[in-house]
Amino acid sequence: CYWGKCTFCDISLDYIRLYEPVSAKILVDRMQELITKTGETGFHFVDEAAPPALMREVALEILRRNLVVTWWTNIRFEKNFSRDLCYLLKLSGCVAVSGGLEVASDRLLKLIDKGVSVEQVARVTRNFTEAGIMVHSYLMYGYPTQTVQETVDSLEMVRQLFEMGVLQSGFWHQFSMTAHSPIGKNPEEFGVAPLKKEILFAHNDVDFVDKTGIDHSIFGYGLKKSLFNYMHGINFDMPLQDWFDFRIPPTTIHPDYIHDCLLDEDDFKFKGNSKIIFTSKNPVAEDFIKTKKGNSRNITQLTFHLKTNIVKIELDQEKAYWLLKMMQENSIAKPQKITLQYLKNNFEENFEDFELFWFSKPLKQLKENGIILSL
Ligand code: SF4
Repeated sequence: CYWGKCTFCDISLDYIRLYEPVSAKILVDRMQELITKTGETGFHFVDEAAPPALMREVALEILRRNLVVTWWTNIRFEKNFSRDLCYLLKLSGCVAVSGGLEVASDRLLKLIDKGVSVEQVARVTRNFTEAGIMVHSYLMYGYPTQTVQETVDSLEMVRQLFEMGVLQSGFWHQFSMTAHSPIGKNPEEFGVAPLKKEILFAHNDVDFVDKTGIDHSIFGYGLKKSLFNYMHGINFDMPLQDWFDFRIPPTTIHPDYIHDCLLDEDDFKFKGNSKIIFTSKNPVAEDFIKTKKGNSRNITQLTFHLKTNIVKIELDQEKAYWLLKMMQENSIAKPQKITLQYLKNNFEENFEDFELFWFSKPLKQLKENGIILSL
């Protein structure tokens, strides 16, 4: 794992702590070698958490070589998984990711040192889902100092994530203390007292008493049953209380919390150094003249035939042919990627006001359909 910080995780062990990424080229060479040897084209990368930048390079390398593969991996729901990156991963054959949301509570996520917030997880899982990549999430209850209220609130967050359709699968694990995790090494700091016994081979879990005195195991059945229902898209309206046969407090989470986290961010930001990728270079171009209120304009319609849909946009003729030229000169196969700033400079050698063009409706359509990606 390139992160190596989560306090419940065995990060002092080499298999987690030592992350030696291989270059994208070597990785894809190995994939090709395996395809030749076995005929298999489905890959599971077994990194504990795969870094987004390397995944991007692997995806580009797969696309450059025109490989037809499917793959999935573990990730951390970090904010670098933008909508466009998820789209690129999908194009390269990524079908699913799994990641730890752990306890869906910002206080506990901080204690875990997961480096994500619930809001961020919601946005990232939305990005994956919208790109058509399935998301599985590891969920946790009974983390040291976790209160009953936090367990209920975490369930409510999970309910909303499923209701909004941004998670497709999940599994609740009860926290267990392992000897090689930061908590296992310094239990008192985290509010737990270990019950030390002789550790036998492969008996890695350490028994402990949580200072809150809560028996978290009683939540297991209700959490799993509700999740099973949510995964089937049912019973979102059922009061949380009904999943348990003992009294629980009402949730303190606003019913629209996740919905509000997903409200669109301002996407009119100009990031000059972002790399521009054109995923299609051969649209059909048709010229025609549009007359409106006595004024005539030369228009070109560009039609993109994608795998599952057709996208048509209309642009002023000169701009349409400029865009076509850019697409052809900078296809995905080209190792060097141009930046948005380069695109702007080139545009402004010919026309005025790049921002107006870049944020126009037709360009928005191309971005929404993954024809233009900014990474
Ligand atoms: S829990 Fe996952 S992300 Fe966190 S340190 Fe362990 S392997 Fe890395």
